[in-house]
Amino acid sequence: MEIRQHQKISVIGAARSGVAVAQLLQRQGAEVFVSDSAPAEKLEKECSYLTAASIPFETGSHSERVYECSLLVISPGVPSDAPVVKEALRRKIPIVSELEVASWFCKAPIIAITGSNGKTTTTTLIGKILTDAQKKNIVAGNIGTAFSSVVQSVDEDTIVVLEVSSFQLDFIQTFKPHISVLLNITQDHMDRYEHSMEKYAASKARIFENQCGDDVLIYNQDDEWTMRVVGTAQCRAIPFSTEKSLENGAILEDGIMKTVVDGVKKEIVPISEIGIKGMHNVYNAMASTLACQFVGVDFETIRSTLVSFKGVEHRLEFVREVNGVKYYNDSKATNVDSVWYALQAFNEPIVLLLGGRDKGNDYSRLIPLVRQNVKAIVAIGESAEKVEKAFLGTTVIKRAESMEEAISVAKFLALPGDIVLLSPACASFDWFQNYEHRGNVFKELVQKL
Ligand code: ADP
Repeated sequence: MEIRQHQKISVIGAARSGVAVAQLLQRQGAEVFVSDSAPAEKLEKECSYLTAASIPFETGSHSERVYECSLLVISPGVPSDAPVVKEALRRKIPIVSELEVASWFCKAPIIAITGSNGKTTTTTLIGKILTDAQKKNIVAGNIGTAFSSVVQSVDEDTIVVLEVSSFQLDFIQTFKPHISVLLNITQDHMDRYEHSMEKYAASKARIFENQCGDDVLIYNQDDEWTMRVVGTAQCRAIPFSTEKSLENGAILEDGIMKTVVDGVKKEIVPISEIGIKGMHNVYNAMASTLACQFVGVDFETIRSTLVSFKGVEHRLEFVREVNGVKYYNDSKATNVDSVWYALQAFNEPIVLLLGGRDKGNDYSRLIPLVRQNVKAIVAIGESAEKVEKAFLGTTVIKRAESMEEAISVAKFLALPGDIVLLSPACASFDWFQNYEHRGNVFKELVQKL
């Protein structure tokens, strides 16, 4: 895509990638304006970067000036159903995501990872395997480093590993990864996709819409919604499954993860030796293995990194054992499916801290597992009442008005050999700044027990 000199472009959302994409576009000669609805106090760093770069901006709300442009770019934090986006659509202003813009300037091959759950874990793991294999790589996207901030310094020999959200995919045009990974499509952000799984799944499927020829789509054969959308892929499509025996892809046989690619079958690793626990992480390991295999990493490196990688903070993270009770922080479990997998990952009785800002959750899927494994639920956050109602009659339910109270209730309920698990199924913005803050508060309080 060509940027014209003095082309007027508005960027919505300043935080992280917003500033980076504004600078990238300014370097191409565009006249950029940045608008963020958050108050200036919350954007001090961003405002100082923009001032230093002489990029005009506004904070606190979006004014009419936002629409005086021929292109609108939305940064990753901005949901695709935000009023400003809807208004721009109504005015027929072309909209693209920061991911799309950055990809216009990318010379390197891209591995892009999406899914409802497991993106960060898989993106991090792929980056780690590539680094261990001494392949130049850069990990960016949703995961921290803005793609726009690094794209121009990336050469053709580097592999870009990108974590991609559905909001960013909603506004792509030409974005075309060499390898895409579709981990799963399960209920999340239902409030933002008009409570339609079809719409949400269609958004995730855009990760491969421009792929063709030798490009590769790696996808989860065991996931219902993934299977509903992958049929339209125009490139090589390689599945992974823990349940089925496949002619092609990654499989689980006799407790061993194996891959079959181009008729060659290879044993990778017994799943009991994989460093990250739980069946969900076997899927993440399979997807990572295939992606790395397709960029030429040797099997020995893949195996040894799968064994040594211990996961990412706030994802089923072991915190501490107190009086025989193990405490786990899974604050990043912000939807029902991730909690379902967390509950599967333990054989011990669980005291579960559940609740927060509800995103339109249907908790019924958890009920059989709660009956089986959960000895008590401590309902927390804004959705405590909804949680109480949803699980009425399934297990002991207590309510807590703060994280401190939740932990002391959990401590009282748990016996030696039990697990106390923070896996809230909800966003954190009711009591906390973000899920990291929630997880850190939990860990600090557990450390004090
Ligand atoms: P994302 O970046 O997609 O939010 P993370 O790797 O940060 O994914 O994990 C988010 C939550 O989902 C954590 O609670 C984690 O334990 C759980 N999880 C990780 N991988 C999967 C998976 N493949 N399927 C279901 N849940 C998963």
